[in-house]
Amino acid sequence: MDGIREDVLRRAEACLLGGAIGDALGATTEFMTPSEIRERYGVHRKVIGGGWLKLRAGKVTDDTEMSLCIARAILLAGRWDLLQVATQFVSWMRSKPLDIGATCRRGIRDYMLFGRTEQPESEWDAGNGAAMRVGPVSLFTLGDDELLQKHVVEQARLTHNNPLSDAACITAGRMIQLAILGHSKNRLYEQARELFRAFPQFRFDPYDGQASGYVVHTLRTVFHFFFTTRSFEDCLVGVVNQGGDADTTGSIAGLIAGAFYGPEEIPSSWTRKLDPAVQQEIISSAGRLVRLSPLGENIVRPDSNQA
Ligand code: MN
Ligand code: MN
Repeated sequence: MDGIREDVLRRAEACLLGGAIGDALGATTEFMTPSEIRERYGVHRKVIGGGWLKLRAGKVTDDTEMSLCIARAILLAGRWDLLQVATQFVSWMRSKPLDIGATCRRGIRDYMLFGRTEQPESEWDAGNGAAMRVGPVSLFTLGDDELLQKHVVEQARLTHNNPLSDAACITAGRMIQLAILGHSKNRLYEQARELFRAFPQFRFDPYDGQASGYVVHTLRTVFHFFFTTRSFEDCLVGVVNQGGDADTTGSIAGLIAGAFYGPEEIPSSWTRKLDPAVQQEIISSAGRLVRLSPLGENIVRPDSNQA
């Protein structure tokens, strides 16, 4: 029984680690087409940096950085605190990140200028910038679907207020939670089907190869490669070789596949390359987020389970 509980912690860590690795891996091929990628790399499958941001190998981008802002906010407050999330976004933006999406920039600026914590609904906010950062909230609300829905949408609307973005955030969050709790791929597919019933445009079969920053394209790409491959590595390699918004499709696929396959399935050649500071912060945050969650009190702490 304790084995199961420990498994939850390990999968939670693999979730955030997978997200960061997908970001680092995908940054290389962001905004490229599949044929440009083929021409240049054959199959891109190494954490080598580069890309349009000219990243050093293993560096992550806004997807992971904004996720870590949310993790920091929760851990600083010891609870959900949306103003703290916004504050963390502000200090991140002030640190002059290499990349920041236009919609995210506007949202953070509106918080700084007007204290606005919810953007007005807009048909233009259907980018993937809110869905890319659902990892920490999913861990923190483990075991309570209403709490997940509430907080995942609150963090989203700091920058993006659109029904497609909201639905994508909730679905990605639920799939992450199901995976962390050890559910089958069929059960995760069931969750995707629930999304298709409300928003048929997310159906990914047949997959049309579009992998842009439009959240519908992003999730279709993630779904296609997650549901048609059998390992963390194959899923991520498929996603980032599709190009487009590859660091973000990589991040979201990495969150779900990391949680689903667990840490031992993440290639060590990738983990070794990941920015050590990011890796450290993920390792120290994942367990604490889960322990603060509704499920947290049922999880045995390693130090109280020696007998
Ligand atoms: Mn990015
Ligand atoms: Mn991106």
